[in-house]
Amino acid sequence: MNAPNDLSAFWMPFTANRQFKAAPRMLTRAEGMSYFTDTGREILDATAGLWCVNAGHCRPKIVKAVQDQVAELDYAPAFQMGHPKAFELASRLGALAPQGLDHVFYTNSGSEAVETALKIALAYHKAKGQGGRTRLIGRERGYHGVNFGGISVGGIVNNRRVFGPLVPGVDHLPHTHIPDNAWTRGQPEHGAHLAEDLERLVALHGAETIAAVIVEPVAGSTGVLLPPKGYLERLREITRKHGILLIFDEVITGFGRLGSAFAADRLGVTPDMITCAKGLTNGTIPMGAVIASAEIHDAFMHGPDHLIELFHGYTYSGTPVACAAGLATLDTYREEGLFEHAAGLEDAWADMLHGLRDCRHVIDIRNMGLIGAIELQPIDGHPTKRAFQAFLDAFEAGVMIRTTGDIIAMSPPLIIDQSHIDQIGETLRTVLNALD
Ligand code: PLP
Repeated sequence: MNAPNDLSAFWMPFTANRQFKAAPRMLTRAEGMSYFTDTGREILDATAGLWCVNAGHCRPKIVKAVQDQVAELDYAPAFQMGHPKAFELASRLGALAPQGLDHVFYTNSGSEAVETALKIALAYHKAKGQGGRTRLIGRERGYHGVNFGGISVGGIVNNRRVFGPLVPGVDHLPHTHIPDNAWTRGQPEHGAHLAEDLERLVALHGAETIAAVIVEPVAGSTGVLLPPKGYLERLREITRKHGILLIFDEVITGFGRLGSAFAADRLGVTPDMITCAKGLTNGTIPMGAVIASAEIHDAFMHGPDHLIELFHGYTYSGTPVACAAGLATLDTYREEGLFEHAAGLEDAWADMLHGLRDCRHVIDIRNMGLIGAIELQPIDGHPTKRAFQAFLDAFEAGVMIRTTGDIIAMSPPLIIDQSHIDQIGETLRTVLNALD
């Protein structure tokens, strides 16, 4: 039996539970760029929560929209029933997404958006009479959430190794993180040829067995891997040539992270489906979505009118409160010009990051939009320990960063200004230079 204030009952996700519970980092309030702890300390948020609070914390318009909605229509069934805000938000998302992507399927998370997109890809080919296309292609070091489809197409070993056997018929492209690109600002020059590996997989398996390729335009959770110039363009050409669907997992790159609505806009490559979540509701209410092309959507709209076209959906697909949060979030981005603001600060952000090149243990720095990564030399025999210490020390020094492996990854709210960038830079310099 646990006491009410005992920390042991909550089995924390992706957390070193024993370390945390021995020395908890408890957040009790947030506002704008900052968290506040139970001891009243202010912590500058250099990670937008978990890459999701793009408009900053506790934004009044979003707070009010959620409060009003929960009092007016708390829940409405998503199956065979509708409520107006779900349609309004879908139209707004379709208008925001790259041209041609205009049908929205709601989920509750990025992981569910990925499962949904993969299932739609398989069902689409079946609907088109190509049921032999069952193979899914992901990429080494890819992160597509934690459900079975996502970890199968994903390529992070610790997320996969104890959960097998995974979804069958999955293969992987090589990742694009090559040594030639170290210290690059923005998109790296080398590595477009790595997309050619898709031709190798087509030659190996046969195009008629492949349903879809899923990649993150910028891989985040694996430690910020940037797409080499020409790489995504080439993937698009090869997928189109062979009738394979291309899915961009934009769970972290969506909603202004690269200074544009979606990475697809900034990088000039339009996939057949986009998965998104996180910044969709500014992290306030869980929500994800798949944004699909008319070609995909329309392939299902056949048969008798009274029959369900796609046997898929969640109790909480497009709940009123999530939709209200999403609409108020999109309003906030637009009214405050946050995507443009992020684009305008990209150089200052990059200057700060690359200015840390001379700090101890730093072996690479990379950036794009308001994303930055600082890779540290691992301690011999103790991978991840050095970066985790940097995370703990930065928190003590009043800045919340995130680490994955021995990589510090940052993605601040888009409302960041120069003084916050300076504070992050100065704190990291002190922290890095004091590390063992
Ligand atoms: N896909 C990508 C690219 C992500 O970065 C994430 C989460 O970080 C996910 C999927 C999973 O999202 P969620 O944690 O909301 O399930």
